[in-house]
Formats: sequence, C-alpha cells, structure tokens
Amino acid sequence: ASAVHQIQAGQVIVDLCSVAKELVENSFDAGATVLDVRFKNHGLDSIEVQDNGTGIAAHNYESVALKHCTSKLESYDDLSTLETFGFRGEALSSLCALSKFSVVTCTQDDVPRASRLEFDVSGKLKSTSVVSGQRGTTVIVENLFRNLPVRRRELERNIKREWGKVINLLNQYACIQTNVKFTVWQLPTKGNKMMMFGTKGNPNTRENIINIFGVKTMNALVAMDLKLELIPTTGPLDKGKRKEGEPAKVRIKGFVSKPVHGEGRQTPDRQMFYVNGRPCGLPQFTKVFNEVYRSYNSSQLPFIFADIQLDTHLYDVNVSPDKRTILLHDQGQMLDNLRDSLIELFETQDV
Ligand code: ADP
Ligand code: MG
Repeated sequence: ASAVHQIQAGQVIVDLCSVAKELVENSFDAGATVLDVRFKNHGLDSIEVQDNGTGIAAHNYESVALKHCTSKLESYDDLSTLETFGFRGEALSSLCALSKFSVVTCTQDDVPRASRLEFDVSGKLKSTSVVSGQRGTTVIVENLFRNLPVRRRELERNIKREWGKVINLLNQYACIQTNVKFTVWQLPTKGNKMMMFGTKGNPNTRENIINIFGVKTMNALVAMDLKLELIPTTGPLDKGKRKEGEPAKVRIKGFVSKPVHGEGRQTPDRQMFYVNGRPCGLPQFTKVFNEVYRSYNSSQLPFIFADIQLDTHLYDVNVSPDKRTILLHDQGQMLDNLRDSLIELFETQDV
C-alpha cells in the first residue's frame, strides 16, 4: 500500500475496538441475526466476525475492499437519516492495509458454494477459491498492525486494557440488538475455545441483559421510560420539521441501578448509551446519571443501559469518523429535563 493509504488506514482503524466495531456494524448492515466474534490470543493473532447476513455477490468481490467502495449510500440526503452504520467504504480497505485480510462469503443463491477471498495491502483481490459454506460472511483479520511496528508493540503492551475495552464495546452492541444471537469467543493459544458471553436471539433487551450480566444484575435494576418534553426552540435543525409551539419529544428507555442508600446491592458499573439504538458515548448524560445516583449511594456508580429515542433531525451522528460522538440539538434542555425525570423515578423506588 502507498504510505498515504497506510496512514489514512491507521486513522480509521486505531485499535482492537475499531476493528470489532467496523466488522460487527457491517454484519448488522447485512441483516445478520446470528453473529459470532472470535478472538485468537485476545485479537493479537486474529479477529474473526462471522454472520448469516446477505453475503457478498460475486460481481462485488473485486471492489469490496477498495477504498471508498460502499454499497450503502444512495444519495447525499441519506446522510441525515442514515439507517445503516456504514457509508464511507473505508473499513475493509483500511484493514487490508493493516493486516492479513480475508473474507469467506456466500449469498443465498450461491449456497453451498462459498468463496474465500484474499486481498493484498491495497485492497485488490488477490485470489478466490471455492469452499463449502452457508449464507453469510466471515471476515478474518490476522496480525493486526503487522506493518506498523510501533502500533503493534503498543497493542501488545496494552492488550489487557484493550481486551477489556473491546468486550465492553461488544456487550454494548449485543445488549441493544434484539432477535440476534450474538456470541463472543476467545480462542487462547493453548486450550479450548471459551465463550466470553452470548445472547440467545431474545425478543427484548431485558433478556439480553440477563444473558450477559445475569439475573441478579437485572433484579437490581429499575426499568425506565422517561419522556422528556422539550420547549420548542427555533434552532436551525428544527425548522419546518415540527409544528409551531409543539414540544419535541425525547424518550429515554432502558434500565438503571435501583438507588440504594449506603452499601447496597452491587451492580456492575457498566454504562451503555445509545441514540436511536446506535451505541455512542454521551459523557454529559453519564454525568447526570452518576450525580443523581450518587445522591443515594455515594460509593458506587450505577449500571446504565439507556437508549435515547428522538427524531433524526434533533441530532447529527456524522461528527466524528467513528460516529461514536453524537451532537444533540438542545442538549442542555435535555439534560435538565433528564435530571428531574430521574429524581422522580428514583423517588418512587423503595430505598
Ligand atoms: P461501508 O460499511 O462504509 O460500506 P466497509 O469498508 O465497511 O464500508 O464495507 C465495504 C462493503 O463491503 C460494504 O458496503 C458491503 O457492501 C460489503 N460488506 C462488508 N462487510 C459485509 C458483511 N459482513 N456482509 C455483507 N457485505 C459486507
Ligand atoms: Mg462498514
């Protein structure tokens, strides 16, 4: 790959988490309902994501891993109302530049003949061979950062922390996706494969959380369905989308630790936020939850699973390339409203 391609690739794929995120999002975009993520030696040797999605059609083999190749963006208009995760067409091409990259894929029409595709560092298709397979796609990333020695050493040095982060991220995807059987495996260098966690294709997020964090955790949570009514403003994003004087409706659905005074029941301090089902980091929201919770229990952080549901014109996800940063219109008002609603919710709980 050219040096430029490699540098750009290194900005799209910065760590283990970006690999997992890009591959898992591609699987969801392909309509997967069964998804297996396998890490060999914590991802240092390989990361594999297998799905039962649409597969890749043969006429796209040549192009899938080329830069800016995407099947997802229909028009510029789509950017604001984006339903899929991807649209830049940079993930696969970047992974080619940074690892030994291959794909096994099979569409419904091709069953049981899957194709194994190998790509070179520039994303060019190197070879195809026929193997047996079911509908879906397996993407295999081996020896990540093999050609960026400094980055590779850094990854090896911090692998414990990176591993913790990647599991948390995958938890976040697995919790929100209903009707998806999502399993994460660790394949140690020696010994048998180990299931890290798995959901069972549950119809609701409650069951997902039970699968991942256990029924004990669930019993220590309270369901929330907060309805925030925002006073109408005439922000530019809002223009023409809502009738004059009609408040914007924002709903925060999910679960949060029951407030307990002093030392109470322990819940893991996992904090997972989403905007319309899309995992993201929302530090300001986290802060409000923590502050309100801490007025009951000063020694713990709450478990939070919170999906913020609102009109697509009230936010912008295309702020950062990884789309984890989300710009919310009128965030200040939302936060004030959230604080009041949370206090109200906690006050109705037995403490
Ligand atoms: P983007 O997701 O932004 O389109 P990617 O580089 O992540 O770009 O993927 C390039 C293309 O490869 C996608 O647009 C899609 O057509 C195809 N693709 C990638 N992963 C999968 C998958 N798991 N199943 C089916 N198609 C896939
Ligand atoms: Mg993608």
